[in-house]
Amino acid sequence: MQSETKNCQNCKKNFTIEKEDFNFYEKMKVPPPTFCPECRSQRRMTSRNERVLYKAVCDLCKKNIISMYDSKEKTKIYCDDCWWGDKWDPTFYGNDYNFFESFFEQWRKLLKEIPLIQAWKFNNVNSDYVNYATEDRNCFLSYSVVFCENVAYSYSIDKSQDTLDSMFVNKSNWCYEIIDSQNNYNSVFLKNCSNCIDSSFLFDCINCQNCFLSSNLRNKKYVFKNTQFLKTEYESKMKEIKTGDYKNIQKIILEFSNIQEKKSIHKYTQVVNGVKYSGNNIENSKNTINCFNVYNSENIKYSIRIG
Ligand SMILES: [Zn+2]
Ligand SMILES: [Zn+2]
Repeated sequence: MQSETKNCQNCKKNFTIEKEDFNFYEKMKVPPPTFCPECRSQRRMTSRNERVLYKAVCDLCKKNIISMYDSKEKTKIYCDDCWWGDKWDPTFYGNDYNFFESFFEQWRKLLKEIPLIQAWKFNNVNSDYVNYATEDRNCFLSYSVVFCENVAYSYSIDKSQDTLDSMFVNKSNWCYEIIDSQNNYNSVFLKNCSNCIDSSFLFDCINCQNCFLSSNLRNKKYVFKNTQFLKTEYESKMKEIKTGDYKNIQKIILEFSNIQEKKSIHKYTQVVNGVKYSGNNIENSKNTINCFNVYNSENIKYSIRIG
């Protein structure tokens, strides 16, 4: 089958289904989509609660729990222990399919009967207030967090420790307010940075140590506001910066924004080792189209956080 332009049944804009997409749908035995990729993405997102937690009661053992489901929805919510345990029989909600009733009506009824696990979190220790989280320890109010310890108020963090208020971070320790960054240590306010140590307020910097309020640095030490200093000069300059003072930090944040907007080179997209791609934050991947935060993957389309 050749590529085809269709009209989205939701937003009424035209979209194209490529030849290889038709092959994929045929192989998966699903009909080609009637919604455009953006509307499909919106539809998926509306069916998923990632960041709102509710107080609830386990419908089996009656203990108080924190859940990703609102108990007002009249769904059956089980605590982790009950959901994984043998105290219930998963065939009790089994029903024969009724060919004279709408599929979606039957699907809706079935969803109300199936016991749901309190939140999508597995093998965590002391991490009740998280969702989409696995193999974590001492994590709090964080979502999409995997193999982490002492992480709080953060989103999409992998294999990191002692990190707060951060987003899209991988393999970092002792960090605060870092975004789209990986392999950093003891650093604050980093954006699009990797392999940085003991640094603060950096944009698009790689392999830097003891650098402050700078952008587009590579393999640097003792750089202050994009100017190279000697170690002793840098240290005395840093002593004047009062990072513990809230008003002072606000001023630096403003200056940092200004540097990012007006004085930095922005790479058109964050891609490392990508072959045939579109999207952002793609690494070691091939043929990843309209993808975001995709790693070590091949032949992926219209997807986020894969790998
Ligand atoms: Zn649409
Ligand atoms: Zn229970």
